[in-house]
This record gives sequence, C-alpha cells and structure tokens, in this order.
Amino acid sequence: MSPKTLEIPEATSRKSDLVIVYHRQPYEEVEADDGTIRLRENSSPNGIVPTLRSFFGEVEHGAWIAWKQAEDAANPGFDRRIEIDDDFGCYTVSRLPLTPEQVRGFYHVTSKEAFWPILHSFRERYNYDPVDWPNFQEVNRAFAEAAASEAAEGAVVWVHDYNLWLVPGYLRKLRPDVKISFFHHTPFPSADLFNVLPWRREIVESLLACDIVGFHIPRYASNFVQVAHSLFDVSRTGRVTVDEALINEGTALTERSMVTGLIHDGHEVTIAATPVGVDVAYIDTCAHSIETRNQMAAIRDELGEAQLVLSVGRTDYTKGGVQQLESYERLLESRPDLRGKVRLMHVSVSANRNMEAYAEIQSEIEQVAGRINGRFGRFDWQPVVLISRAVPFDELIAYYRAADVAWITPIADGMNLVCKEFVASRVEGDGVLVLSEFAGAAVELDAAIPTNPFSHRNMDMAIAQALEMNIEERTTRMSRLRAKIDACDIRFWGDAQRRLFEGAANGDNGTPKCTLAHRRKGDIGAGARDGARPELAVVDGR
Ligand code: UDP
Repeated sequence: MSPKTLEIPEATSRKSDLVIVYHRQPYEEVEADDGTIRLRENSSPNGIVPTLRSFFGEVEHGAWIAWKQAEDAANPGFDRRIEIDDDFGCYTVSRLPLTPEQVRGFYHVTSKEAFWPILHSFRERYNYDPVDWPNFQEVNRAFAEAAASEAAEGAVVWVHDYNLWLVPGYLRKLRPDVKISFFHHTPFPSADLFNVLPWRREIVESLLACDIVGFHIPRYASNFVQVAHSLFDVSRTGRVTVDEALINEGTALTERSMVTGLIHDGHEVTIAATPVGVDVAYIDTCAHSIETRNQMAAIRDELGEAQLVLSVGRTDYTKGGVQQLESYERLLESRPDLRGKVRLMHVSVSANRNMEAYAEIQSEIEQVAGRINGRFGRFDWQPVVLISRAVPFDELIAYYRAADVAWITPIADGMNLVCKEFVASRVEGDGVLVLSEFAGAAVELDAAIPTNPFSHRNMDMAIAQALEMNIEERTTRMSRLRAKIDACDIRFWGDAQRRLFEGAANGDNGTPKCTLAHRRKGDIGAGARDGARPELAVVDGR
C-alpha cells in the first residue's frame, strides 16, 4: 500500500472544540526528494491514532498537541503549528520543540525508568536517581500551555497516557472552562505500589482536576480510586456492578464492582473503564485478501505437519518473553514426542534500542532461543524462530491466520492488542489463544486458555493443553472469542468516549455506567468523516 502524503498548508489561529494531547504526532514525517518535508500515515498499525483522529470529523475544527525534537527549542527550524485538512477533518497540529535532553529526561528517564516499572508492578526496576522532576514539570506545562491556547471556550481536551500526567493540573488553572478527559493506556497499580512514587500527590492532584479519568478495565479504575483515597480527602459519587462482559470468573484482574465518580475540593471526576478494541472490520478485510491467503498457504507449506505457536510483542520485561521461552524449553524437555512436531515463532520487536533495560532483555531472549535451538534443533527442524524486527501488519495477519496457537503471556499489560488481532484474523473460526491473566484483555476473553506467567507449572500445562485441544473445543472457544472482540471493537471504544464527553459537557457523571451495556453496533465508526473508511496505511512495520 503506498503511503498517503499530504501538503502542509499555512497555519491558522482557529480555536478548536476538541484538543487531543498525545505525545507523538498523528503522522510520520518523511523528507521528499526535493528536500521538503511531507507527512504520511503512521506505519504503526496500532489502531489508536486513526481512531483518535476520527474524532476530528465530528467537530468544526480540532487540534493535536505533540512534541518534535529540536536542537534549539527557541529556533526549532520547523513550523510550530501546521494545519491539516484530510479525510478525518480539519485540525491544527501543534508541535512543541523539545531538545534532545528534554526528551531524554521527560520520556526515557522519568516516564520509562521511573513510571513504567511502577505502573507494571516491577518495583525492583524502579529507578529514582536519574529523574529530573523540574524537567518533567516543564515539559508537561508546555503541553498544557499549548492545549490552553488551542482550545475554544468549553472545548474538550483529551490527554493521553502517563507521560502527560501533570497536564490536567496545569491546564485546569489556565482554562477552568474546558472539559478535561485523561485516558490511561497502561495498567494502574494499587496504592502500595503507586505510592512508591515520591511525586504521587502532585500526579494524583493533577488527575483529580480532570472531568473524566479513563482506564481500560475496572481493576485499574479501582486501583486509582484507592490511590486517590490514600492521598486526598475524596468522596465517592457512585458504584456500579461491572458488566458481565468484563468478568472472567476467578482470573487475576477481574473486579466485580467499581466506583464511577469522585469528588475532590468540590470538583466531580467521572471514573470510567472502557477496554480499547481492534479494528475488526479492517482486520477481516486484510485476512480475506488474496495476498494474505497466499502468504498463509506458503507458511503452512513450509511447516509441513508441525503446529505453529505464535508469540508477538515488544522487547520489554513486562512482556515476559524470557519466561515464555523457558516454558517452551521445559515443554520440549519433558515431551520428546513434540520434538519436530511444533515450532515457535517468537516475534520480539526492540523498540527502545538505546535503553539498557531493553538491551538486556533482548540479549537474554537471544540466549534462551539460541540455547533451545542448540539443545533440540535438527538439520530439518528449528524449534524457535526468533524475529527481532517489526513484522509489517499485513504480513502479521498471515501469521495470525497460519498459526495453530497464539501464546501471549505478558507479566503485566494494560490491554494487549495482539491477542485481539489474532482472534479477529481467525476468519475460519479455528485456533487457540493462550492468554496471560495479567493482560487487561483477559477479563474480556474468557474463552482463551488462561495462564499465569508466575507459575512454571501453569505456563507449561496451558501450552500443552492448547497443542492437544480437539477441534470441537477449539471452534467453540474461538466462536465465543470472536463474538467478544466483535462486540467491543475500536468503534465501540470510540463510542464510549464520545458518550463520556457528552456526559461531561452536560454536567452529568456516570457514562458509561456499565461499560458494555451501551453498545450501538456500527453507529459510530473509527472511520473518517462522511462515513468513509480511514486510510489505515500500514506499510512497513512500526
Ligand atoms: N506489531 C506489529 N508488528 C510486529 C509486532 C507488533 O505490527 O512485529 C503491532 C501489533 O499488531 C499491535 C501492536 O504492534 O497492533 C502492539 O500492541 P499491543 O497492545 O499488543 O502491545 P504494546 O506494544 O502496545 O504494549
């Protein structure tokens, strides 16, 4: 698919009814042959950016705030504001010039070395010493100022993720009139863990300045409520029973009820849990394409009689790649009958090459995979195929279709889209999903084989069970999984956000009361204005 390029028109000073604050720009920038900079669709297939942009189709004018690196922030050498008019709508992209030191301090150190381990319950990896807190405050303040200057009277400002935790607090002071919504794309830990952060009061006070604080699943929302209670004198405004669609009996992240609102200093905050889904319709189209079918046939040919186990994720200690490979090694050790009969394709994409923690994990993964191949491999059979480069999304769909088992075993994961993409790709209705109980998606996907990555025995049994499952059970489970991801796709998530914004604008708290009860299938799309499908230009990996 050829990437779509856009001209960069003159910036305007139009104010916006919806301002999205997201650390990355909504496009990639590429240098054309004539030296001019052109914008093209993000190569990352992660569906969230097109979905966010689709909201611009519903307002007269929107704005997106992101950062862009500049050697000299005072003279960045690029336009700070550009104006876009594309299939999604008309919007300004405001690019904050940040120096490489600011980016390192704000993103690689404070966000990735201090917050990320705490959010994912890896207290031992938390690194406080290098944090430059004034730098984090300064960058967040700059995002808030940019949002304040773009927002029209009473606009919705939608802030994304933990690296922008302080934005709502600064913004509320600058613009008491706007509605602020904050969505967490990660887990949110319990007070015992969150309160390890010395900046906890400042962070939570900022979040309590929002009108809506959103999470993927009720457990993360409940943890936030617990943290808020531990630090401030807050009162609750409502509690609901969690919809049964988000209850997976007996699994680790299931929560039965949740608080839907808090009052702090007379200000009411709606607490929401809305699990992000995948673009089921788009994946279905890709899965049915001729190219995918041909690729799938070639993969199956190459496999012969062997079963393909597929594991896909980023190289990150939270994804549990090493633990999974060790489980596979134990399986091959204890089950000689499986040697030559199974193959693991382990895709572990290194995203942060310049960070030590990730380099260590990468090398451990390479070591264990190498050891397995050395111990059990034969000339005609390689037990593990390790792939460290990003597999382009359309090729990934062919592997999703060709695999017998998807083995997704993160130690902690806010949602995990890979498991949902696998299910969406299984258009023939067969295939087994083994899913960690510690992925947010596990509360929805109750027909997966649950597994606990903290238990060797449980990990080993789950993969063995998947490899031996009969066709009836496989298809029954897959049909249930497919119904789940279809009901809660990316459109449903967008719809839920919209309802939350409307609730905040009307001054009523509590939408959605019960996350899955409001489904109006197909009425609001992740697509562009005029109902056209968005150009999800997934071209060449991440
Ligand atoms: N992905 C990809 N190619 C790869 C590996 C991953 O396109 O080689 C995509 C995958 O399809 C998914 C995203 O990266 O959309 C990963 O999202 P997920 O929520 O599973 O994990 P995250 O990386 O956001 O923690």
